[in-house]
Amino acid sequence: MKNKTALITGSTSGIGFGIAKAFASQGYNIVFNGLEPDGAEIAKTAAGAAGVDYLFSAANMLDPTAIRAFAAEALAKFGTIEVLVNNAGIQFVSPIEDFPEAKWDAIIGINLSAAFHVTKAIWPSMKANNYGRIINIASAHGLVASEYKAAYVAAKHGLIGFTKTIALEGAVCGITANSICPGYVHTPIVDKQIPEQMKAHNMTKEEVVEKVFLDKQAIKQFNTVESIAQSALFLASDAAFTITGIALSVDGGWTAQ
Ligand code: NAD
Repeated sequence: MKNKTALITGSTSGIGFGIAKAFASQGYNIVFNGLEPDGAEIAKTAAGAAGVDYLFSAANMLDPTAIRAFAAEALAKFGTIEVLVNNAGIQFVSPIEDFPEAKWDAIIGINLSAAFHVTKAIWPSMKANNYGRIINIASAHGLVASEYKAAYVAAKHGLIGFTKTIALEGAVCGITANSICPGYVHTPIVDKQIPEQMKAHNMTKEEVVEKVFLDKQAIKQFNTVESIAQSALFLASDAAFTITGIALSVDGGWTAQ
């Protein structure tokens, strides 16, 4: 039997890379994507370590034409994509009156519209195969808001709505679609927002970690890449065949409050 293939956007860093390694460890071929300058090397090393086949593409998730070419390349190489993880994302923190229009467009483009474009491109093959597992990496910010994150919160709320819609459409053709909603995970996206948070809240770095990041969570610990990756593996497993349309919180009790 041929190995299954998982396509993960934004998978040469952080959560996406953790998800890629977890699926590779289960024998999936991996389609990597990301803008890290050493992405090709990162993908080659991780796939080699797991002994699986792979493809790497630096397709820009802001460019629908590049996304369609990327999906076509992946399907040409592997025939079918069993698991699609829409994970690529960026963040920007600013009060609304200063929020740059270009940042709004980029966040909506990468964190929301790209999921639509990738899903649309892969969907016909999943439908023809009568099998698909779509996992969208949303956020606790897909369920609740925080100040100064207008674009991100809007995009992640939108992503959860998109996920529910394709869950309904996929139900008749073997495709499930779910969101994972992490709380804070210590990755580059979090590191990058520390200076912005310091400025927006007029706080020190230590205060940002304690009073902005972990204050939201009942469990005062960062979530881990590994716990998000294991959640993705579960949603792709046979045991999850009737789990569709959910938003799975992995957030230390943030949204329980
Ligand atoms: P990260 O910065 O480590 O990884 C983001 C990935 O997306 C990178 O590989 C990057 O190259 C890629 N990417 C960004 N813009 C791209 C573009 N235009 N085209 C292609 N790839 C692009 O951050 P992360 O924490 O691993 O974030 C992954 C996902 O998890 C994001 O959607 C993020 O919103 C979500 N998330 C993260 C946290 C957290 O605390 N880290 C919490 C909730 C949700």
